[in-house]
Amino acid sequence: MPSSFPMPINNQPPRMLRLKDGLKDGLGRAITYLRVSVTEQCNLACVYCKPRTGALERAEPPAMSRNELVQAVQVFTCLGIRKVRLTGGEPLMRRDLETIVAGISPEVEGRVHLTTNGFHLARRARGLRDAGLSGVNVSLDAAERGAFERLTGKDGLSRVLAGIEAARAAGLKTKLNAVVLRGWNEDQILPLARLAQTEGIQVRFIEFMPYQGNGWGKDQFMPASEILDTVREGLGTSLEEEPVVGLEEGPARIFRLPGSEGKVGVISTLSADFCDRCNRVRLTSRGELKACLFGNKPVDLLEPLRNHASHEDLARLIRQALTEKLDCHPMRRGQNPDLANGMWQVGG
Ligand code: SAM
Repeated sequence: MPSSFPMPINNQPPRMLRLKDGLKDGLGRAITYLRVSVTEQCNLACVYCKPRTGALERAEPPAMSRNELVQAVQVFTCLGIRKVRLTGGEPLMRRDLETIVAGISPEVEGRVHLTTNGFHLARRARGLRDAGLSGVNVSLDAAERGAFERLTGKDGLSRVLAGIEAARAAGLKTKLNAVVLRGWNEDQILPLARLAQTEGIQVRFIEFMPYQGNGWGKDQFMPASEILDTVREGLGTSLEEEPVVGLEEGPARIFRLPGSEGKVGVISTLSADFCDRCNRVRLTSRGELKACLFGNKPVDLLEPLRNHASHEDLARLIRQALTEKLDCHPMRRGQNPDLANGMWQVGG
């Protein structure tokens, strides 16, 4: 780990500026969770994420250097962010990810998590843990080899399973995420639920979300209620819902699987949104703040950072952007969302 972390922001020690009141948006929602996309580049081409235009192949290398990234995160943590998730693109495409984790981890008392496709996880899980990572969500949309390849464009299921095993062996809190698309992988719901049951792991099924160029169609949408019915009927069991304790599980509803440590969860972004409980803000690899996944114009933080803006000025920009954070995503009002950014750019 380089000795220069944590970085002073333009020579001001960030810890001195840490605020007690925390960060609130214009509606009084406490903002404590930052998702940072560390790169737009990805080694898989998932059907639900890949832009039809082929733009993913031309994804820009990350604009933010690791020092800039850590500096930007420090501004957020001083304002009240308590948990950071690194995402992408594919975060493991960055060779300096361990150094980034090491720079951020002390800022949030170790609450740094990663969302990854798991393809390169097996050989990096221990190093990431040693750098201060505490948890990993692995995207796994299929439990069968052929289905995995159809969805991701790569014959990589065994590599991802090895990555999951390595993450668990390294002591990282490990969960699986599966996006469900009707006509693509609804036949994988049961195999994934069985995997959760036999492996004693948590699998969370995510409703497919629309954005520019990902081929969104109502026909492919499968609501969380139907996903849960598929699990109940397929396993021949009722599911006991876990009580919600704080925001630890984020927006997921979690259900125990009988006779196992395993759990299934659903994230119902569209059928029963959770905007009123939203505690998150996003930073892209271009150094832009996104107050809402589907709305709010991005606010550039990178240029001010490079122009030696003071900590107060950066904090002002963030606070201003959050006063305008949408009360709910536009689809709830029947409006088209801001589709300017793909999920691979914003980080999901
Ligand atoms: N490459 C990493 C991965 O595969 O997890 C991180 C980036 S990916 C954009 C982050 C999350 O967004 C993943 O859990 C992915 O499944 C989810 N995601 C991407 N496109 C989505 C869509 N159209 N609807 C719902 N979830 C989506």
